[in-house]
Amino acid sequence: MFTQKPWNPVFSSQESLTSHKVVKCANGLKETTPISEYFGELTFTLGEMREKLPKEAYQNLIKALDHGKKLNSDTAEAIATIIKEWAVQKGATHFCHWFQPMTGLTAEKHDAFISIQHSHHSELKVIERFTGGQLIQGEPDASSFPSGGMRSTFEARGYTAWDPSSPLFIIDGEYGKTLCIPCVFFGYHGEALDNKTPLLRSCQALSQEGIEFLKCLGDLDAKSITATLGPEQEYFLIDKHHAQARPDIVMTGRTLQGASSPRGQQLEDHYFGSIPSRAQAFMVELENELYRLGVPVKTRHNEVAPSQFELAPIFENVNIAADHNTLTMETMKRVASRHGLVCLINEKPFAGINGSGKHCNWSISNDKGENLLDPGTTPHQNLRFLAVVSVVLQAVHRHADVLRAAIASPGNDHRLGGNEAPPAIISVFLGSLLDNIFNSIERGEANQATEAQIINLGVGHIPNISKDYTDRNRTSPFAFTGNKFEFRAVGASANVSVPVSILNAAVAESFRDATKRLKELITKKKNRDEAVMDLIKELTLAHKTIRFEGNNYSEEWKKEATKRSLPILNTTAEALEVLNQEKATEFLVSTKVLTRPEIQSRYHIAVERYNKTLEIELRALCELARGFIIPALENQIKNSGDTLKIIQTPGTKTLQGKRLTQMEEILGSLLKGLEELTLNLEQLTEKGSEADIMKLIATQLSPQAVRLRRACDEAETLISDAIWPLPKYREMLFLNSQA
Ligand code: ADP
Ligand code: MG
Repeated sequence: MFTQKPWNPVFSSQESLTSHKVVKCANGLKETTPISEYFGELTFTLGEMREKLPKEAYQNLIKALDHGKKLNSDTAEAIATIIKEWAVQKGATHFCHWFQPMTGLTAEKHDAFISIQHSHHSELKVIERFTGGQLIQGEPDASSFPSGGMRSTFEARGYTAWDPSSPLFIIDGEYGKTLCIPCVFFGYHGEALDNKTPLLRSCQALSQEGIEFLKCLGDLDAKSITATLGPEQEYFLIDKHHAQARPDIVMTGRTLQGASSPRGQQLEDHYFGSIPSRAQAFMVELENELYRLGVPVKTRHNEVAPSQFELAPIFENVNIAADHNTLTMETMKRVASRHGLVCLINEKPFAGINGSGKHCNWSISNDKGENLLDPGTTPHQNLRFLAVVSVVLQAVHRHADVLRAAIASPGNDHRLGGNEAPPAIISVFLGSLLDNIFNSIERGEANQATEAQIINLGVGHIPNISKDYTDRNRTSPFAFTGNKFEFRAVGASANVSVPVSILNAAVAESFRDATKRLKELITKKKNRDEAVMDLIKELTLAHKTIRFEGNNYSEEWKKEATKRSLPILNTTAEALEVLNQEKATEFLVSTKVLTRPEIQSRYHIAVERYNKTLEIELRALCELARGFIIPALENQIKNSGDTLKIIQTPGTKTLQGKRLTQMEEILGSLLKGLEELTLNLEQLTEKGSEADIMKLIATQLSPQAVRLRRACDEAETLISDAIWPLPKYREMLFLNSQA
């Protein structure tokens, strides 16, 4: 029998156990109501604009969207009017400009719809009002959002502006409904202060360069190219009482201490196992909320670790998918709280079991809706497919270092390189089918290859490719999965806009260079298809070293990657320095995704966030050791010492003596470790620039913290359960503990 702890009401109260099983959705719907009846009921989309706007206003809006032009004020007024009517009718009282500052979260600035009117008897009258100006531009006080030194304090203004390409939505909160207007956030001179602006710019660059490339391939009617994204979100659910009893979770969103429980994930029984009923109740309500917000959630299942789950939406245009992912993360936290749960989206909430990632399934499609990474059915589609894949290979190979920097975060440092998640070395997995095809193209024998999948169609030298879903390599950070690439190294808490902007920019640049080369090859050859095959061959040869089909977790791969000169950037501290190298980031400037000062400011913000996050974690660990674990160990030593005094049996006496010695040694390690870390933390600010501090934390303080944590974990295994002051892994991780 385990000791009853104050944070385990689930064990003590039958009531709280059953109440969580009841599925109640915010709008009173049951799980059985058809989704189509309420999908998107809280969003205002382009379709509705078309229905409700005067024809001319709608056409102006579409023009503004297609050509990136500013909306005129009449159109803005007309749009504001219909939006206000819709929102007020839905019960919204406030509106907010919803944007994504560089902190990685979202920010909102709320205003009431009401406005005061003076009637002629000078009575005050309150009316609902919402103007075009309020719709398209707002001016929150930007001085407290991070700008990485880009915005000087005397012009601390930041502006939000409506992004009409993403649907407006209503947040149905506990204390009322708010209309949210998706916005970009920028400074006085147009400098990007958020994550959405670069994403939109990268989509534009990708489309422009991609169209040129497609035209060169012979797709003369190509008008636009869209990047698509389906982010698979991993997360943990734990009981709120457990979370509240752990200062580390409250302060940092992850456990900084915790000995492994006897049962972790070794039985491999959680993955695709049945979903615990409390989690299921949460998921039903979460999905219901997300459907109302127009987020097309598709799959839910358990993940590898106990209490770990995954949610995947159906892919969308990256801009909308990115908004939807941030909305999903916020909704998860809100809904979890209603179920007495806490949703942990940190990359590494628990040591010893898997961390959480966010697999970014990415592809590009043309304006006919054809997926350019789908092998297709005709020889031309096959050829285009191979050409686009080789362009992506070039992009990832050239910019592996910046892609690594784009996924760098303190949480992801614990995940990348563990035996669970892709390593910190970026490489591309193609699967044996594609790998063979590229190998034979490289050898100039694509048309004669004996592989069953490669058939000489007699049209030039174009192999016929069929889709292949069988090949999976879970260890690859960037894998081709049949008709898309899966960027797996992205961390669970990341704003997907960051890695996706970089990927889009890299591919845009690669398209540009490939177009230039293809034009040269076409002038040399008569046959366009032959020229394209030559280009594919050249790209395949030049970027062979980014391809890796083997086990990314192995030690051999590290050696091999070094030989291939692939960047190995193990920590955030190393990865972020890439942003300081002008040559490495030149493609971001040339594709107009980020300016030089914007890159600099992003570097500073990332370093500052790293330092702040780690300082909080290190201080929280010291507090755990000082305030919880050392006192518990002192008690245990006292109790065990008292017992030693009354023991008569010589053998037992010796064993008890040994046990005491072991505890004293651990106490010694704890005291020493705590002293060392506390002192270093106190002196940290005197150690120079923020970059110096980052290096010091990564190379000195973090290893000290690892040692201190180890001593804390050992103490847990020696101390009586009755006096251990924190919820243990075994208590936190088994939501279905009745099982
Ligand atoms: P898996 O076997 O990896 O689970 P799924 O078909 O379930 O494969 O897809 C996982 C994610 O990839 C989903 O979010 C899905 O919508 C997304 N996805 C599928 N096709 C594309 C595409 N063309 N572009 C972007 N994402 C896609
Ligand atoms: Mg997947």
